[in-house]
Amino acid sequence: MELFKGIICSVMECRKALLDRFIRYTAFDTMSDPSQDGKRRPTTEGQEKLLLSLCDELSSLGLDVYYGAEKVVMGTLDANGAEGAVAFMAHVDTADAVKGNGVKANVIESYDGSEIVLSGVSISPEKDTDLSRYIGSEIITSDGTTLLGSDDKAGVAIIMTALEYLVSHKEIRHPRIEVFFTPDEEIGAGVDEFPYERMKAKVCYTVDGEAEGEIETECFNAARVDIKISGDVCHLGSGRGKIHNAALAASAIAVSLPSSESPEATDGHFGYYTLDSIKGNMEKAELSILLRDFDMESLERRIEAVRRSVSAVEALHSVRTDVSVKVQYRNMKSVNDADPRAMDAIRRSAGKLGIDIKEKAIRGGTDGARLAEHGIASPNIYTGGHNLHSLTEWVALRAMESSLSLVLGIIKEYS
Ligand SMILES: [Zn+2]
Repeated sequence: MELFKGIICSVMECRKALLDRFIRYTAFDTMSDPSQDGKRRPTTEGQEKLLLSLCDELSSLGLDVYYGAEKVVMGTLDANGAEGAVAFMAHVDTADAVKGNGVKANVIESYDGSEIVLSGVSISPEKDTDLSRYIGSEIITSDGTTLLGSDDKAGVAIIMTALEYLVSHKEIRHPRIEVFFTPDEEIGAGVDEFPYERMKAKVCYTVDGEAEGEIETECFNAARVDIKISGDVCHLGSGRGKIHNAALAASAIAVSLPSSESPEATDGHFGYYTLDSIKGNMEKAELSILLRDFDMESLERRIEAVRRSVSAVEALHSVRTDVSVKVQYRNMKSVNDADPRAMDAIRRSAGKLGIDIKEKAIRGGTDGARLAEHGIASPNIYTGGHNLHSLTEWVALRAMESSLSLVLGIIKEYS
């Protein structure tokens, strides 16, 4: 308990370093570019500049640094009197939903509870009710012409400041700590390449969440079913009994999907089927169906239901079909549950630090879910960011400090 009090006091001493770091990172132009996905990595030069700068910063803190062909920065802090390893990850790119380059961060030293007026936009405490939690403390916004980039430079700053704290407090025992900074997360390519063979940790916390206290533990299981259909064509005038229409068969499969189990009709913990694309003619047709479910067995039932529908349509329309199923990502919950230490460390340290946490499920995937496929548990920790990917993005320094305390608390739990 004493050590946890120590963490809180010292984290308060770290607040200036945390803020300075975050502001410094926001000045890098790191929007990712989906048009360059698969052509270059990182997709933009600014990301590489920030990644290289993070390499220097990790080296100056005395960590071992690896930055190889994967274009993921890996920093390793050797164990200090404790067994095992734990990892943390954040991404350096920002979304391209609004302008994300040329960011000028705006620090409100002591927020007074009123509307925050920026250039062209404003942030209203009526709509953003969380603002009232931070009256009297620092709020950071952009100048209103760009996003801010707390997603996920707040995560990068939190992880880096945690390392600085450990390096300057040698009395704290800790296991081997691995940190990863990835590019191009916003375009879904963050861990397309990743130095798995260098990684020893079996738990990697992503620090890439939102409001203070929110921990994302669960995401969808996701599968994509691609169906190719071949039909038979001849002159329409003599088509009786000879034409087997592939396009018609494709539409029959599409309309067989239950509309009450679509993304437009579901929320919460309900999964869905959705038609992602359909194209073709009488001779050849293709369709892709996306399936999402929090429960893997239910996802498998959905896959089976699509297969059955395809074979029924095949019999009815006398067409040939080819079905391929790809599981795109898995609910990290099963991996998180298989290694209860991952969530236990969050719950226990939050309890000791007096942080009220709220465990949430995301109706989507995360980079952590991709790591989960490699058996690595990856709960997602809040950064304190709000209105992500927008001109009204804001983050409270106090929420970032809270996240930093939690990161250090988790490390203590592994010691
Ligand atoms: Zn993010």
